[in-house]
Amino acid sequence: MLIDAGARPGALGDAALPQLGLLSEHPPTAMILTHAHLDHVGDLPVVIRRHPRLHIYCTEATARIATLVLADTLKVSAEQGFPMFSPGEMKRALERLRPIPYFREITDHGFAFTLFPSGHLLGAASVLIESGGRTVFHTGDVSNTDTPVVSAAWLPAQVMAVDAVVSESTYGDTLLPASKEQVRTFVQAIGETLCTGGRVLIPSFALGRAQERSPRSFRPAWPVACCPMSPSTLTA
Ligand SMILES: [Zn+2]
Repeated sequence: MLIDAGARPGALGDAALPQLGLLSEHPPTAMILTHAHLDHVGDLPVVIRRHPRLHIYCTEATARIATLVLADTLKVSAEQGFPMFSPGEMKRALERLRPIPYFREITDHGFAFTLFPSGHLLGAASVLIESGGRTVFHTGDVSNTDTPVVSAAWLPAQVMAVDAVVSESTYGDTLLPASKEQVRTFVQAIGETLCTGGRVLIPSFALGRAQERSPRSFRPAWPVACCPMSPSTLTA
């Protein structure tokens, strides 16, 4: 069972790819895509080039966002002179996506697995996998607070016994302020700038963060323009 196939943001060519050679000894027979951020989905066409028969299970929202992210990855990597895959390979990878709903157990090649909402990004999932009488819970990228776009991760009503947990740990060593406090500081900084006649430029990840801070989420009383951060935008 292969979980996710990401690309390293900012890296070029082979340096952007995970060590797929490690899969040759134990080729995957099924795949789960937890969500559509670049560092989880960007390498999908390369995996399908090597393992063309894989079914890729994910939520419907992840399948739809992955289509946009891969098209963008193809465009950007081609512009940088290191195209990671061809348009045909991208199409073949997208054809392998098998959207499934949350909370429904699916079986494939001796694995039984169920997706659960993990917060974080529209369509994102944690997955409980059972095989050979053993269970593994993989959190995927997980968020336990509500945002204007997605609800917090689903938690079971009772403790679930599993044999192993694989957990995201991006902020595992960092004590973050509460999200309400972060929003208050963010809004206060913008307000102070606007009140002194300034303009505010908010750089943001395009997928996830940008929607959380979009005018639709906050309904601000001042005009807001959203645009891609290209060099031409910055010099305009
Ligand atoms: Zn993510």
